[in-house]
Amino acid sequence: MKKSYNFNAGPCVLPKEAIESTIEAIRNFDNTGIGLLEISHRTPGWERIMAETVALWRELLNIPEEYEVLFLGGGASTQFFEVPANLMKKKAAYLQTGVWAKKAAKEAKFYGDVEIVASSEDKTYSYIPKNYNIPLDADYFHITTNNTIYGTEIKEDLDCPITLVADMSSDIMSRPVDVRKYGLIYGGAQKNVGPAGVTFVIVRKDLLGQTGRPLQTMVDYRTHIGDEPKNKSMFNTPPVFAIFVMHETLKWVKSLGGVEAMNKINKKKSEMLYAEIDRNSMFVGTAAKEDRSIMNHCWVMAPGKEALQDEFMAFAKERGMVGIKGHRSVGGFRASLYNACPIEAVEALVACMQDFEKLHK
Ligand SMILES: *Cc1c(COP(=O)(O)O)cnc(C)c1O
Repeated sequence: MKKSYNFNAGPCVLPKEAIESTIEAIRNFDNTGIGLLEISHRTPGWERIMAETVALWRELLNIPEEYEVLFLGGGASTQFFEVPANLMKKKAAYLQTGVWAKKAAKEAKFYGDVEIVASSEDKTYSYIPKNYNIPLDADYFHITTNNTIYGTEIKEDLDCPITLVADMSSDIMSRPVDVRKYGLIYGGAQKNVGPAGVTFVIVRKDLLGQTGRPLQTMVDYRTHIGDEPKNKSMFNTPPVFAIFVMHETLKWVKSLGGVEAMNKINKKKSEMLYAEIDRNSMFVGTAAKEDRSIMNHCWVMAPGKEALQDEFMAFAKERGMVGIKGHRSVGGFRASLYNACPIEAVEALVACMQDFEKLHK
């Protein structure tokens, strides 16, 4: 097989260990002689995997008792409307730090007033707005902690005077999180905790059932909490494949020492790449330095070097770099260094950037 380094933004690189054990489970799940994709989700073996997956989430993120951990379908995009459906009485506030945040606010408008407290759209979302006012009469304040497309990140858990809701699709499990500062955290699994097909929701239970709004059964989080532990996220058929890979991925995170250890490794990888972006005369970074993401790294050709963009892309491709084309709204390049991206991949990318510079000196 050709050596390649996967920098895709999502779906993206997964731990090899998780892939291998999933392949085995597809052949023979839990020593039943039946494959993972062919079992009933009501078998004890599967109920154990579900319970273990929730337990791994609780352990890794230190999730307090009063929160539920749910695994749903529909992607983070479905949470854009399920969050306001469940939490918004009259009004919600949104911080607009990218197109995902903008899309989330758009769906919230179906349920009430939406106040955009600040936006960085004026500069292609290359920074995180500061110094905004959170309206105290809003039912919650929604943020996107990591802006996958632009490579900006809110790296600290904000102190928020009202319920804080966060889309953590692309930085969940990359660092410790003080869950108590949030009312609800959600995201698609396919950036840092698994494959596409499952969405995680961590929600403080006392926030539910307060709107007076009748909800469709599937939209109501309480349906998925269920009345018995074995029914949790099992109201209907759960996406067993995606949840199993998530289970294996989280086991891997735990084996490396959990999210604190991940964060150390992630910072090291990220600093290596930003150091090269800043040093290399061929390139410049696009995100404001203080807001740079440790997951997604965006850069473009330096002024005067723009004509070399396609050449660098071809050069990098030849050296096995996959998925470094920037999103069309930013242009240039983006390398996503999620948990499962090995440090060797970052070293290879840095060497590739250095060699390209030498070629043009
Ligand atoms: C990818 C992404 C989404 C969309 O996720 P889907 O699961 O595809 O709906 C939402 N928010 C952020 C921050 C993302 O990176």
